[in-house]
Amino acid sequence: MQSAQVRLKRRPVGMPSPDDFEVATVDVPEPGAGEVQVVNLCMSVDPYMRGRMVDRKSYVPPFQVGEALTGGAIGRVVASVHPEYREGDIVESHFGWRQAFTAPAGQLTRLGELAAPPSAYLGVLGMPGMTAYVGLLGAASLKDGETVFVSGAAGAVGSVAGQIARLKGCPVVGSAGSAGKVAWLTEELGFQHAFDYHDGNLLGHLRDGAPGGLDVYFDNVGGAHLEAALFHMRPFGRIALCGAISQYNATEPVPGPSNLVMAIGLGLTLRGFIVSHFDHLKDDFRRDMTAWVKAGEIRWQETVYDGIEHAPDAFIGLFTGANVGKMIVRLAD
Ligand code: NDP
Repeated sequence: MQSAQVRLKRRPVGMPSPDDFEVATVDVPEPGAGEVQVVNLCMSVDPYMRGRMVDRKSYVPPFQVGEALTGGAIGRVVASVHPEYREGDIVESHFGWRQAFTAPAGQLTRLGELAAPPSAYLGVLGMPGMTAYVGLLGAASLKDGETVFVSGAAGAVGSVAGQIARLKGCPVVGSAGSAGKVAWLTEELGFQHAFDYHDGNLLGHLRDGAPGGLDVYFDNVGGAHLEAALFHMRPFGRIALCGAISQYNATEPVPGPSNLVMAIGLGLTLRGFIVSHFDHLKDDFRRDMTAWVKAGEIRWQETVYDGIEHAPDAFIGLFTGANVGKMIVRLAD
């Protein structure tokens, strides 16, 4: 069997370009003892991968130029030399950015009975959904009824964060990059108020949407969003620092929020987190999210690019707002 895979051709500077990637075809070895061979059905592109394209120390090591990229993927087992894996099993792995692979079974997670189509395990039922869950309930210690602001609210993490807050009885304000996204948030996901941030009037929109101030800010964007939220926090509010996508392609040092000093007088907590810091909440997340999804209480959308050759475009699209909900690359049926 052969598989196309996407490699990093050179390290992007600023906004990534399709020329930073290349597609190569390789042979996929037959599985040996303890191994399985998998054909990927779909793969994830995620903003954190931009950081891995830079050669610097971080919580995950950088991608190497000339090597296949990696990332979340859902696939089907097509051959197994492991007693617990059978042909047809649906598995989650970190072997994305390729059509097929062979790996030790220990590097895979079998999904078992599915509560939703497989791609949902890259979004609402997967890492982004868990990020939303632990960010709100763990990092931000959300309490029922508090007023919440979510930026990047129409994305994979943000759309779930807003809905979890709504389920906890919290009025939720969201920011997103287009009128269509804003309509989805207020008309379908139950956000109390949402706005397109492109007019630059962030603080004005926050005052309109949450006149009494914010108890919790779930920050996916950083920069001007963080600064505006700081101006509008209530005493002892909490800010979950989840991401700062407005800065990921910066080529110059980015200034911090000019008003960070407000955190002192207001007694704010700003807590950065990585989803894996809360691995102890994984079982809680799976139980709650599966129940919410089955009951139709959490909704989601996907933006799907077809074919491995379009994976770089899907990745770049994260930085232009091309996705509503989770960005997915479909690789096979
Ligand atoms: P999304 O599905 O939200 O996709 C990215 C979105 O970001 C785009 O659709 C776009 O939406 C928005 N965006 C892009 N550039 C800008 C910009 N300059 N200013 C404002 N918004 C911008 O991605 P995810 O849900 O996967 O990730 C959301 C955030 O969460 C990211 O910052 C990511 O790094 C972080 N994250 C953190 C994790 C953790 O463990 N801490 C785990 C997973 C994600 P729009 O049209 O609204 O601009």
